[in-house]
Amino acid sequence: MTAKLIDGTALSKTLRADVATRAAALTARGHQPGLAVVLVGDNPASEVYVRNKVKACEDNGLFSSYDRYPATMTEADLLARIDALNRDPKIHGILVQLPLPKHIDSHKVIEAIAPEKDVDGFHVANAGALMTGKPLFRPCTPYGVMKMFEAYGIELKGANAVVIGRSNIVGKPMALLLLEANATVTICHSKTRNIAAFTRDADVVVVATGLRNTLTADMVKPGATVIDVGMNRDENGKLCGDVDFANVKEVAGHITPVPGGVGPMTITMLLVNTIEAAERAASNA
Ligand code: NAP
Repeated sequence: MTAKLIDGTALSKTLRADVATRAAALTARGHQPGLAVVLVGDNPASEVYVRNKVKACEDNGLFSSYDRYPATMTEADLLARIDALNRDPKIHGILVQLPLPKHIDSHKVIEAIAPEKDVDGFHVANAGALMTGKPLFRPCTPYGVMKMFEAYGIELKGANAVVIGRSNIVGKPMALLLLEANATVTICHSKTRNIAAFTRDADVVVVATGLRNTLTADMVKPGATVIDVGMNRDENGKLCGDVDFANVKEVAGHITPVPGGVGPMTITMLLVNTIEAAERAASNA
């Protein structure tokens, strides 16, 4: 069997058209949605992510501000900049690109962002709201994965779902969203004794480890849906995920490619969260 491809690029295009319509409606009412992107240091991968996010804003009618600071920026100066963005009425979403230089406490920085502008959904207030079933913002990557399930008619109610990876930005919120959608969820991680024993019984597997070939064909139940969040480079420098795509696609029912899967959806959901924040601000104005 060859799995059906879940096309994140095509789905993003559809969702971004809706974003552009909502952005235009807000702008017409004098509330153009605005995203502030903050980058500290010169990590080349972060520069690419940030540039893509700013361009996605420009392409879809959102205002964006892009602050680039040297790696020597102090924590106090960064906190002061966030405080100014919290109070700026043109800005509805604030994204501080991670990782930050080692001398800056990223936890402190995330907690400094006003929860109503925390479009990444990483602030403890937003993590807690997600945990208790009343999310203000869903973290972009897992939110994008949920949109993929919806668009491709993947049944989650009663499904066995396995998430491999337990980070605060992907694995844990992914598990919570799957639970909210009535899946039976198992979280695996680097200390899990026999991951294959869990994945072989799974209708849905989401892999987010940052490690190539975490999921191989012998670990997958025929017809299962496989979502690959990973972004790695192979020995030729080519972008690849955490899943052995060539072999797993022969067993799975649905699968996401890398590139062209989860990556574009993450940026799309950042735009969606910013629009939602702007709509809330406009309705309170
Ligand atoms: P992370 O913070 O490094 O977390 C990785 C998780 O994987 C940890 O929970 C770790 O377990 C687990 N893990 C590591 N090796 C494992 C193994 N051999 N078997 C089982 N679990 C293992 O990474 P992250 O931020 O969640 O990101 C994961 C991947 O997704 C990375 O490749 C990242 O680049 C990518 N990513 C992509 C997008 C996108 O938009 N496409 C967005 C975010 C992240 P422990 O907790 O036990 O250490």
